[in-house]
Amino acid sequence: MTTVDAAESSVEQQRREMVAMARDFARTEIAPHAAEWDRKKEYPADTVKRLGALGFLGMLISEELDGLGLDTLTYVMMIEEIAAADASVSITLSVHNSLPSSILQAWGTPQQWERWLKPMARGELLAAFCVSEAGSGSDVASLDSRAVRNGTDWVLNGTKAWVTNGDVADLLLVLVRTSDDATSRTRGLSFFMVPADTPGVEPTKPEDKMGLRASRTTQVVLTDVCLHADHLIGEDGAGFQYAMEGLEGGRLGVAAQAVGIAQAALDHSIRYAAEREQFEVPIKDFQGIGFKLADMATRVAAARALLHDVARAKERGEDVSMRASMAKLFASEAAMFVTTEAVQVFGGYGYMRDYPVERLFRDAKVTEIYEGTSEVQRIIISRGLYAHDK
Ligand SMILES: Cc1cc2nc3c(=O)[nH]c(=O)nc-3n(C[C@H](O)[C@H](O)[C@H](O)COP(=O)(O)OP(=O)(O)OC[C@H]3O[C@@H](n4cnc5c(N)ncnc54)[C@H](O)[C@@H]3O)c2cc1C
Repeated sequence: MTTVDAAESSVEQQRREMVAMARDFARTEIAPHAAEWDRKKEYPADTVKRLGALGFLGMLISEELDGLGLDTLTYVMMIEEIAAADASVSITLSVHNSLPSSILQAWGTPQQWERWLKPMARGELLAAFCVSEAGSGSDVASLDSRAVRNGTDWVLNGTKAWVTNGDVADLLLVLVRTSDDATSRTRGLSFFMVPADTPGVEPTKPEDKMGLRASRTTQVVLTDVCLHADHLIGEDGAGFQYAMEGLEGGRLGVAAQAVGIAQAALDHSIRYAAEREQFEVPIKDFQGIGFKLADMATRVAAARALLHDVARAKERGEDVSMRASMAKLFASEAAMFVTTEAVQVFGGYGYMRDYPVERLFRDAKVTEIYEGTSEVQRIIISRGLYAHDK
């Protein structure tokens, strides 16, 4: 074995161990409670704390900064395992890992790493990503929140919408307008790290959602929030670019969530179709059901293959902006297809809360909406096809 082969096999070995650890935790500590958390709209704070202590809140942060330093493929495979057990827990983790952590690691100063990133990586602080507003979702550059300079401080005002982890996060990474640039809509936006206990920060009551009911989503109101300039992340005015780069990784996290949800729906359907009998045979023996299972399994395999391929390309340092959108688009639509078919395989039971596919169906829908809707992904992909002409 060459040195390169040995290094690769040790990475593979570490990946297998990490994914197995995520699967064990998901199956024993999360899956048995997912239905109840969903029914009660209960955010599993203790479980998230325990995941944090195991390193799940520092998955992409380098080991020097107290994280696990995982490669992108290992990360998405672990998110798949968590999402198969509970999509709410997976989004709690993936928002923290893919967005605030990655942006802070890429653009923060060593002082900001000490102060915020290291405790985040150790699972001591949970973070949220506050970009959307009631009037600006897909069109991020149209946001209204502002920060105005006052000596060495900045004063923030505005209201952020649909913030995952909004009222349970310790830190909020907030995008606001810091200047108006007549030549560019996307210049003049900046990120600030806002500790949740800063005076003037007020999350509203959690939204009552169709799915992901064990994950917290709130508005966050900022009223004269005064922060020292050392809370500005990266360059003043470059926040839009950082948000788009962060969302590229975020989309792989959502694609992984979609693959996990779809895999769970497929597994439940395969088992149920072998157990449920009608006309004195298991329903899997009807070609109509067998073909459904075949189509579901094929979509799951294709979504996973695309996601893993893009994760590997990102790890090689390739530009994956278009392909990350392809992975998110395909995986989220696959999850919607597979969970819809799963409800059909279960028949009337599929429509009942007593069976898991109903929750998976509700949870799948949001993967087509957040971190860029399917329409926005299609815009990115179609523009990407002509990028070489510029
Ligand atoms: C559960 C949940 C959690 C969320 N978590 C977060 C979070 O943590 N942080 C955060 O910042 N945001 C979060 N969001 C917000 C989410 O990212 C936005 O909802 C999403 O980007 C869409 O924005 P919008 O809802 O304003 O829809 P809109 O932008 O108003 O879109 C409405 C419809 O118009 C379509 N559309 C818009 N523009 C175009 C176009 N140019 N061409 C074609 N079609 C178009 C859209 O695809 C969609 O179908 C969350 C949302 C949900 C539901």
